[in-house]
Amino acid sequence: MSRQGAQCDWCGVELTEEMGYRLLWPDKSLGTAFCRLEHIVPFLMQKDQWHIWKAVTVPADAPSLSTATGDELGENALYLVHHRGEHRITDSFENKEALLGWARAGGHFAP
Ligand SMILES: [Zn+2]
Repeated sequence: MSRQGAQCDWCGVELTEEMGYRLLWPDKSLGTAFCRLEHIVPFLMQKDQWHIWKAVTVPADAPSLSTATGDELGENALYLVHHRGEHRITDSFENKEALLGWARAGGHFAP
């Protein structure tokens, strides 16, 4: 079995631990990986096939409110972790729809 998050779940490009995004769904022990934010959108809209990953937990530095809406997070929350070199930057979302809307708008780089 290959390392979890070893490739982008949309385009298949290989990923190291120092790059890409990991999308975690702790309530269901599910995870997915992406090379870039733009690939999350078509994945969620067209494919939406997650993997059962080991040790899917809420990241320690996860914001306690939704990055997309500022709303409270429920048990269904998703966590998007940007791996950039040694840095891990986490955003929190109350559900898939909130994440999708945020990602479609360009994430943190929205105008
Ligand atoms: Zn990709």
